[in-house]
Order: sequence, then C-alpha cells, then structure tokens
Amino acid sequence: MQEKSLNPFEIVQRQVKEACTMLKLEPAVYEILKQPLRFLEVAIPVIMDDGAVRVFKGFRSQHNDALGPGKGGIRYHPDAYADECKALSMWMTFKCAVLGLPYGGAKGAVVCNPKELSRGEVERLSRGFIERVAAIVGPDRDIPAPDVYTNPQIMAWMVDEFSRLRGTNQFGVITGKPLIIGGSAGRGEATARGCTFTIREAAKRLGINIKGARVVIQGFGNAGSIAAKLMHELGAKVIAVNDSQGGIMNPAGLDPKSVLEFKGKTGTVKGFPGATPVSSEDLLQLECEVLIPAALENQITSANAAKIRARIIGEAANGPTTPEADAILFKNKVFVIPDILANAGGVTVSYFEWVQNLMNFYWTEDEVNSRLERMMVSAFDAVYKMHDDHGVRMRTAAYLVAVARVADAMRVRGWLD
Ligand code: NAD
Repeated sequence: MQEKSLNPFEIVQRQVKEACTMLKLEPAVYEILKQPLRFLEVAIPVIMDDGAVRVFKGFRSQHNDALGPGKGGIRYHPDAYADECKALSMWMTFKCAVLGLPYGGAKGAVVCNPKELSRGEVERLSRGFIERVAAIVGPDRDIPAPDVYTNPQIMAWMVDEFSRLRGTNQFGVITGKPLIIGGSAGRGEATARGCTFTIREAAKRLGINIKGARVVIQGFGNAGSIAAKLMHELGAKVIAVNDSQGGIMNPAGLDPKSVLEFKGKTGTVKGFPGATPVSSEDLLQLECEVLIPAALENQITSANAAKIRARIIGEAANGPTTPEADAILFKNKVFVIPDILANAGGVTVSYFEWVQNLMNFYWTEDEVNSRLERMMVSAFDAVYKMHDDHGVRMRTAAYLVAVARVADAMRVRGWLD
C-alpha cells in the first residue's frame, strides 16, 4: 500500500503550513509560500543524430526570491513532472534560508532519459534548455546547478550558451561548473562534508563518541561514498553500505577507500571481498549509532520506521523519510537531522562558487572547507536551539527557522501588508 503522503508537493505544503501555524504567522505568508511565484514550462526542439527532430519538455520553477535570487539544480529524468519540480524548488527556498544564504529557491527539470542520448544530443538539449529559460535566469535572478543526471560538463555547455546569448562571459549564472571555468574547490565533496559536520554536532549533543561509532550508509554514489570516507576519517566504523545492486556488511568495519575502488572496477559494492551480503531491507534495520540515507526519497516509511535501531539519522538524500515515518522516529527518540539541513553543504559551496565568480577571486580548498564548517555548525546550532526551546523534532525546527526568515524578508519588503 502506498503511503498517502508521497506526493512531494503535498508533503512540502504540509510542512510549510505546520510551520506557519506554529509561528502564528499572518495568513498571507502561507498563501504566498504554498506555490512557486513563477513556473515556466518550455518545449525544446532538438535535432537528433539521425536527423529527426524530437521535442523535449522542460521546467523552471522559481518558488520565492524574498531573500535573494533563486537557486536550485536542473534534473534530467524520464519521470520528472511539474509537481515534483515545484516541490523541489520549495525545498530549496527553505534549505537556503536555514543556512542563512542570500538566496531564494528554484529548481529545473528536463523530461528525458540521458542514458539513451548521445553526447551531442545531450549538449544540444542542454543548450536548448538554457536558451528557453534565459529570460528568467542570470547571476542576479536565478542560478541553476547540477542535480540528478546532470553534471559539470552539462553546466559548462549551459554557461557557454548563456554567455553567447549575453555576448559576455557569465560564469556566475550557474554553479557546479568545471574548475577551469570558475568552479569551486571542494564542491564535489561538499554535500557529504556538510552532512558529516551535522552528524558530528548531533553526536556531541547526544553524548555519542564519534570515534568507534557504527555507521550504516544507504546509497554509495557521490554523497554516500564520500560520507563513508569522511566518517571513517573521523574515526567512525562504517559497518554496512549498499547501492541499487546490493549491500555489504562487516561488523569490524569496512575500508571506504577500498570499497570505492572495488565499485570503480565492478560498478557495485556487491561482492566486496571480506564482507557479507545484506539486503536493502535489513541494512536499514541494523543496530548502529548513525544511519545515512544517501540514495532516494521515501526509503524510511511507516512500514519500516519502527524497526530502525540507529540513534542518529543524517539525511544526505532529499526526502528519504515520509512524514508518517518521521513521527514514529521522533516517538522512538531517533535523532533525525533533516535533509534541508543535513545535505545543505552542496548548495552552500555552490554559494561560495557564485561569490568567487562575482569577485573573480578564488579560494583554496581549505578556505572553502573551513567556511563550510562555520556555516553548517551555525545552522545546526540555530535549528538545535529551536528544537530544544520548543520541544519539536529537528525537521519541524528547521522549517520554523527557515519559514520565519523568509517571512521576515517578505514582511520588511512590504509583501504582507
Ligand atoms: P548518485 O547517483 O551519485 O548516487 C546514488 C546512489 O544510490 C548510487 O550508489 C545508487 O546505486 C544508489 N541507489 C539507488 N537506488 C538504491 C536503492 N534502492 N537502495 C540503495 N541504494 C540505491 O547520487 P548522489 O548525488 O549521491 O545523490 C544521492 C541523494 O543525495 C539524492 O537524494 C540527492 O538528491 C541527494 N543530494 C545530493 C547532493 C549532491 O551534491 N550530490 C546534494 C544534495 C542532495
């Protein structure tokens, strides 16, 4: 049976409504925040390699720009749809607000399966998409970035096309670019690094020693594999990981570097020597101090939440826990660091990239990482204080911090009266 609350647009509306009610905000705040202020649907004709023309559908959703220009990735996916894009743009507004970034929220998508397209077709599609949305994006309007199935090369084509349209280099229009054209040092590891900082802070608050703490990670891609490496560097013991093909465990601890090398050769963690197989269902239920969902949305649901035996969940993935599961975890005293806080390291270093582009002055990786640490710790502290002062779960606390900031900005700008 499907959980009733799996439509992401409805989930985020419920989260915003709850925050507005708890903060006793004027009704206009929810009326403005319950949908994007601008939503553009485009059709992108692409000449395919065989000479035929195929028309792709694309979206750009700009949820709210009270705190600054829109920020959010572009997703290439065959199942992308308008409501999902709107919901993701709303989450970006609150993710940026919780970190105190001078941004609003936005998101884009192209309905396509990039695995079925040639490199040339992806390039023409990417140039076509940015041309269609060029009127509403820009370094001071809305700054896209990579998301699911898009990458620095795609960002480079988009920057190039946008720069051609403007007649001048516009590196600040997009983040997540290759280093050579204004990308930032540290961007590749930023999401996992930020997540690790929040887990470290949570462990301190809960009196858990991170050294020797058992860590389980669902998903061994960009976010999950780097989180494994960084948790290992902090002295934690990564006892199980999995990917879409299978999972492995070793109570004595896995060496994340060797697992990554193995995955590099075989395409999966499954079959890693010296580990025993673990099903995806069992992996989530292993006894551990830290569980990091780093794969997909809706993984922790009312069907499995009660069986989770982690003390801390650090949501590297977006939306891995359904609202029903969240309530169960809270009741069982599992400390959940919500996605809009736990995985905000990526957008924070995207912000650093944009700042460096605007200044044309570039920072070292150490500078990026130490600024990231400062911002993640300060955001964690603000959310933890809200959680502690009001006795609410960390997710609610994060929305309270974020919605209050966006509402303040709208109020002083005169949008509410
Ligand atoms: P990725 O594609 O690099 O990795 C995803 C991993 O999940 C892969 O190893 C895949 O095999 C695995 N996976 C897929 N289905 C699975 C399943 N059913 N069970 C177990 N594993 C499964 O993606 P990523 O960039 O690491 O992103 C992962 C999550 O983190 C997504 O929710 C994404 O939105 C979120 N996120 C990523 C970033 C970032 O900067 N990479 C930033 C913010 C949020």
